[in-house]
Amino acid sequence: NLSKRLTMVTSFLPKGAAFADIGSDHAYLPCYVCLKDQTARAIAGEVNEGPYQSALKTVSHYHLNEAIDVRLGNGLQVLNEQDKVDQIVIAGMGGALIKSILEEGQTKLDNVTRIIAQPNIDARNVRKWFVDNNFIITSETIVEENQHIYEIIVADKKENGTLIRQDFTKQQLLFGPMLMENKTKAFYDKWKSEYEKTKRIIEQIKKATVMDKQKLNQFEEELLWIKEALE
Ligand code: SAM
Repeated sequence: NLSKRLTMVTSFLPKGAAFADIGSDHAYLPCYVCLKDQTARAIAGEVNEGPYQSALKTVSHYHLNEAIDVRLGNGLQVLNEQDKVDQIVIAGMGGALIKSILEEGQTKLDNVTRIIAQPNIDARNVRKWFVDNNFIITSETIVEENQHIYEIIVADKKENGTLIRQDFTKQQLLFGPMLMENKTKAFYDKWKSEYEKTKRIIEQIKKATVMDKQKLNQFEEELLWIKEALE
């Protein structure tokens, strides 16, 4: 059984998807998709030997070797021209890492029409990257599972000639433009906990022998945004 988090991620793949799951670990996600949809094709990318071996094992176990290609390599480097990958999934990592994988893999994105990202932290980084790199955020969800809260961000490549650029405010980048329009229990739970975290950080900054005034201002501003978002 796939986790609620990863099942939610797969719900943004079309039928007959040709996708890459980068940082696939056990390759549970591509196996789930390809078992359900015989027309789906996947590449499971892993940078570490251990998870790479686990991915190979899961794929063989389900006899999915025809549908899923497991590859060892860093980020999008595992992809080539001939792969014709339409969608990319990057889940279960920090936003900074997801952003750097996308940034370093820019040249592999020519034919990609959709990226589904599930950053564990720093979703802001990922949203900013999409906005700055010709993608449009088309869906967002937030799910709670085993006391963790996860955000999923779906971005589609801009059509040629589309001039619109999503101009998000700092608050929209932080909270998610769609998530803040339609606040769910998970949203409130996440930001209540972030509120407490931010308050503790502010206390720490204030206690430091050399106080970083700029950092303090930044966190105090964010605390205010969070307070407003929770109202
Ligand atoms: N995507 C799965 C999920 O959401 O459950 C696994 C998440 S796991 C926490 C992160 C995985 O990403 C690890 O298996 C790690 O080896 C892999 N990883 C980290 N950096 C990577 C990179 N630059 N390229 C490919 N895989 C990477």
